[in-house]
Amino acid sequence: MTSIQHRNVPFARPWITDEDRAAVLDVLGGHVLTHGPQGEAFEAEFRAFVGGGHAISMSSCMAALHLAYVEMGIGPGDDVLVPAQTHTATAHAVELVGARPIFVDCDPQTGNVSADALRAAATPRTKALSVVHFLGAPCDMPAIMAFARERDLRVVEDCAIALGTRIGERHVGLWGDVGTFSFYPVKHITTGEGGMFITQHADVAERIKKLRAFGVDRTHTQRQIPGYYDVPTLGYNYRMSEMAAALGRSQLRRVYEILALRKQHFGLLADAVASIPGVQVLRDSDPTHTHSHYALTAVLSGNAGKQRNAVVAKLNAMGVGTSIYYPQPVPRMAHYRNKYGYDARRFPNAERISDRSVALPVGPHLTKEDVEHVANALRIAIAEVSA
Ligand SMILES: *Cc1c(COP(=O)(O)O)cnc(C)c1O
Repeated sequence: MTSIQHRNVPFARPWITDEDRAAVLDVLGGHVLTHGPQGEAFEAEFRAFVGGGHAISMSSCMAALHLAYVEMGIGPGDDVLVPAQTHTATAHAVELVGARPIFVDCDPQTGNVSADALRAAATPRTKALSVVHFLGAPCDMPAIMAFARERDLRVVEDCAIALGTRIGERHVGLWGDVGTFSFYPVKHITTGEGGMFITQHADVAERIKKLRAFGVDRTHTQRQIPGYYDVPTLGYNYRMSEMAAALGRSQLRRVYEILALRKQHFGLLADAVASIPGVQVLRDSDPTHTHSHYALTAVLSGNAGKQRNAVVAKLNAMGVGTSIYYPQPVPRMAHYRNKYGYDARRFPNAERISDRSVALPVGPHLTKEDVEHVANALRIAIAEVSA
């Protein structure tokens, strides 16, 4: 039996304030529900936060990833390097344009792909590479960009769990050709569903804006005759609504507060679990990196690692919400395994993270007492399965 009191600590909880609610209701009180001033202001404010480039709001991160490859003209016959340890969306975007994902194992200490691992996996047909900044710690973009230039590869940075992550002063997503963000409820900020596409290239931004809205050649304000336009190319409807954009703007006003709380909770939790035998915390300690601390992933060794699911059940029973980032290496997911086959020996580090780790909460919804409870619960859960 556990010797601590139950305490309810969800893994994540959207942080919605009265200001957030008022911002959404304001939009509903008016007449413009899509492509209006909220979307444009959200894009401008997001661009100011990351510190440059062009920002285009999207209906999701998945939509942004998809459009990235459409815009690049990547398709059948092309290969794209994709991290094995990521959300399935990073790979689906490649599949959706008919190209082939070539999966790359991650570093065991950070969960990030390295330039060397990308180089070793590249094929003659490789046209682009993607990275995910795992749990808010940045990949080594200077080295990865040097490799990409050597091989003339386009670079997509999946920043879905890396809002606020910087290398030096430069935000992730502004190193490669494209950066994509998610505003799904458990991410750093939320719009319910939503995403952002960022790029340093003005021509890419222009084409993405058209692809986002059916391939239409002019925006509402550019139309001399209301309702008249032409469609020179195929396109999608991947727009964000004005209600979502208003919520995003309101959330973005708290982004520094959110990041500070995450950093504080991560630090406290990492210190508290450091003394638990057989627990490795995924982290990177480069002092030039600013992390966004998406979650604290504890990789369990020995018996506790083999009984990860029992540890999770015990944590949940003590009220600790947990998750797994990510639940399987993407090439092991049924769609990819069935299509391409799967060789576990190629992805030992991604396998270990998926099968032996538990992601613990560090979000702004926690109190210091919650953080202590999470650490104590982990200590107890591991002791019980190891006994
Ligand atoms: C959550 C997530 C996505 C998907 O984001 P949506 O906005 O839900 O499409 C993509 N990539 C990564 C790494 C994620 O964690």
